[in-house]
Amino acid sequence: MKKKKITVIGSINMDLVTKVSRIPMVGETVMGESFYTTPGGKGANQAVAAARLGADVSMIGGVGDDVFGRELIANLKSHSIDVTKVGIFPGISTGIASITLSGGDNSIIVTPGANHLVTTDYLLKHKEAIAASDCVILQLEIPMETVMMAASIAKNHGARVILNPAPFHQLPEQLLNDVDYLTPNEHEQKQLLLSLTERRKEDIAKKCIVTKGSRGVAIYKDGEEEIPGYRVEAADTTGAGDTFNGALAFALSEGFGLKEACRFANAAAALSVTKLGAQGGMPTRGEVEDLME
Ligand code: ATP
Repeated sequence: MKKKKITVIGSINMDLVTKVSRIPMVGETVMGESFYTTPGGKGANQAVAAARLGADVSMIGGVGDDVFGRELIANLKSHSIDVTKVGIFPGISTGIASITLSGGDNSIIVTPGANHLVTTDYLLKHKEAIAASDCVILQLEIPMETVMMAASIAKNHGARVILNPAPFHQLPEQLLNDVDYLTPNEHEQKQLLLSLTERRKEDIAKKCIVTKGSRGVAIYKDGEEEIPGYRVEAADTTGAGDTFNGALAFALSEGFGLKEACRFANAAAALSVTKLGAQGGMPTRGEVEDLME
């Protein structure tokens, strides 16, 4: 059977992680204990999650003409993701998250760089790819106008649209209309509800799949229904939400019903938290099915 086409339109970042005994104060220098780089960005993470499960994934996004950009493109390619629609933009850095970790505390600086050059003009060059998709996954780390246009093109061509509203921004009415599913975590769900009128809350809730960490998810199609998570030994929950979104898109594209797709995505995300790194623990379809047995 032909693989279903999933297009992810979103961010591609390199995470630069330094471990320190204490986060420095303004003007202070402290010695780091260790340093590593790891691929990230919600868009790229969700693309890798869907590709690991076996989907035919295409990424639309942008990196700078620098060493991180080349490494991130190579990383996506290594997961068999089509990177022909990832722009290499000169004169701007690749998106960077500079993360300082100290015990359980962290401080993070995100520099969007090339992610902000994924404009509506750039998107229009790849309109056909969006139109030919079975499912489109979006997040909010590229310009909002681009997200809106992508959702609208996808909707007009009958592709399913999943929007992971993270990091949270107020969502324009048109975007809310164009998406099939919204996947906020509990914190984003609170902000989303605060931004809606009473009348809209009910309609929008029906599109929501709220992720609740180890507890799994809640859906609101016919009143609230919990779909419990899988019990695992958590080693690193970074990227759990991204794995959930990639897996949800994969399962829905495979024809699973909503509840079964949520169960599948809960299992995929649970497996991802058992290993270190956002992309490091993303499972294959076989591994997910073994956990679900
Ligand atoms: P992150 O920002 O860390 O990627 P998130 O806040 O977007 O995560 P969560 O609600 O924490 O999203 O987690 C997403 C999904 O991952 C959950 O719905 C669940 O399926 C799975 N999950 C997360 N944490 C655990 C855990 N400790 N054990 C099992 N499953 C988990």
